[in-house]
Amino acid sequence: MKKKKIDNFISLPCLANARLKNDDQNIIHRDCFVVDDFLKEYGKNKKYFIRTFGCQANVRDSEIVAGLFDKMNMTQTEKMDDADIIVINTCAVRENAVDKMFGEIGQCKSYRQKKCQVCAIIGCVCEQPSNVDKILNTYPHVNLILGTHELPYFCDNLSSLLKNGYKRLVNVKSQGGSVFENFPSHRQNKYKAFVNIMYGCNKFCTYCIVPFTRGRERSRLMKDIINECNELVLQGYQEITLLGQNVNAYGKDLNDGSTFAKLLEQIANLNIPRLRFTTSHPFDFSDDIIDVIAKYPNIMKSIHLPVQSGNDQILRLMGRRYNSQSYRDLVDKMRRKIPGLTLSTDIIVGFPNETEEQFEDTLKMVDYVKYESAFTFIYSPRCGTPAAKLIDNVSDEIKHERFNRLVKCLEKHISNYANSMVGNVFNVLVDGPSKNNPLMFSGYTEENKLVHFPSKNLSLIGKIIKVKIISSHTYSLIGEIYE
Ligand code: SF4
Repeated sequence: MKKKKIDNFISLPCLANARLKNDDQNIIHRDCFVVDDFLKEYGKNKKYFIRTFGCQANVRDSEIVAGLFDKMNMTQTEKMDDADIIVINTCAVRENAVDKMFGEIGQCKSYRQKKCQVCAIIGCVCEQPSNVDKILNTYPHVNLILGTHELPYFCDNLSSLLKNGYKRLVNVKSQGGSVFENFPSHRQNKYKAFVNIMYGCNKFCTYCIVPFTRGRERSRLMKDIINECNELVLQGYQEITLLGQNVNAYGKDLNDGSTFAKLLEQIANLNIPRLRFTTSHPFDFSDDIIDVIAKYPNIMKSIHLPVQSGNDQILRLMGRRYNSQSYRDLVDKMRRKIPGLTLSTDIIVGFPNETEEQFEDTLKMVDYVKYESAFTFIYSPRCGTPAAKLIDNVSDEIKHERFNRLVKCLEKHISNYANSMVGNVFNVLVDGPSKNNPLMFSGYTEENKLVHFPSKNLSLIGKIIKVKIISSHTYSLIGEIYE
C-alpha cells in the first residue's frame, strides 16, 4: 500500500489484526454524543447525502451517521449533486455490491469538483486492505475513509479533516471492536425500526468477510436494548427488527445470564405489535428460542434461517457447523412447535469444488423446506477469507446455469405459497403509496409478503389493517382492504 499518498494517515486496515480475539473488549457507555461548536457552525445551511449498500446493519449505521449530521445542524438531501458532504456506506460481502460501490464513488468525482467538500467512504469495504488501496490510488476525490470501528468517532474524524484543510484522512482500526450506547439517530422510518442487539461475529464461516470487517461478537446489555425498544413503543412504532450477524448467540459474551430467548421474551412483553429478528445461525437456534417464538403472537413467525448449501461436504468446507440432516431436524422441530412458520434463507451456488451431485443436494433441501423467500448468490471469493485460498474451480458458465436452476426451484415454492394466500385475509402493515403505481398502496403481511392494494388514504400509513388477497405474483400479492 502506497502510504506516501495519504495526507493525514492515522491507521490502515490489517486483516491479521482483525482476526484477533477481542479479550480486552470494552463496553463504552456515552451518555451523549457532544457535537462541538466548530461542527455546529460548519454544518449551518449545509446538506448531507448518504448512500447505503448492504444489510440492515449498514442501514442502521447510516441512521446513526445521519443523526450526527442532524446534530451538526445539517439537513439531509436525496440528491448527491446538492450535498456538501457525501457519505457512501459500503458492503464487502458480495463482489457485485463492491463493484456497484466503486461505480458510485466514481460518480462523486464531478460533484467534489463543484459543491461537495467531503466525500467519505465508510463501512465494511474500508476494512479490506485491497479496497482501501484501490480507493487511495484511483479516487483522489475521496478524502475521508473510515473503518466500521470508527463510527462512534465519526465527528472527531470529520473535525480533524476539516481543520486540516480537507486533506485526505484514513482511519481504519482492524480490531475486535467495542459497544457504544446512546448514539444519536435519524431513523428512516417512523413506524418500523431496527435495533442492534449485538455487533460482529465469531463464526468465521470460511467464505465470509464479516468477522474481519465487523469484529468479534459483542452484545449490548439487555437493559440498554430494552430501554431503546421501550422508547420506540412509546413513540408508536409498530415493528421492531432486532439486528445482529448471529442474533441467536446474543449474550454469550456477557456472562451475566443474558440469552437471546430471554431478550426476545422481554421485548415481546413490551407489546410492540410486530417483533422480528435477523440473522439466525442454525447452530445456535436453541429450544428456548423456539419456545419463546411459539409463545408470543407478536413475534413474527417468518424466520430467516440461512442454509447456504444442502450438501454435507460443502457445508463442512464452508465451516457452517451443521449438516443437512441436523438442519432438516431443526426445521422439523420449528414447524412442530411454531404453527404458521414461514422460512426464508440464503444460498450460495458454485462454492469451490461443488459438483453437480452436491448442487442437487441443495435443490433437494429447497424442495424439502419449501422456503417462502430466499437470497441467492453466486460464489465469489472474498480476499482474506479461508475459502479464498481454495481454487475457484467451478466455471462461470456452470455457476450461472446452477443459479438459474436454483432460482426456478425456489420460485416454484414461493409461487405455490403466494397462491395459497389468495382468498384469505392478512394483517398488513401499510408502508404507503407503491413506488411503481401511485394508485396502489403497499405493505407487508406478518409472513413478510409484499402486498399491493388500491387506496389513496394516507392516514393508513403506519397502521396494521386487514387486506384480502385476490391474486398473486411470485414476489408480491394483490389485495383489497377488507375492513
Ligand atoms: S455466521 Fe457466518 S455467514 Fe454469518 S456473518 Fe458470521 S461468518 Fe458471516
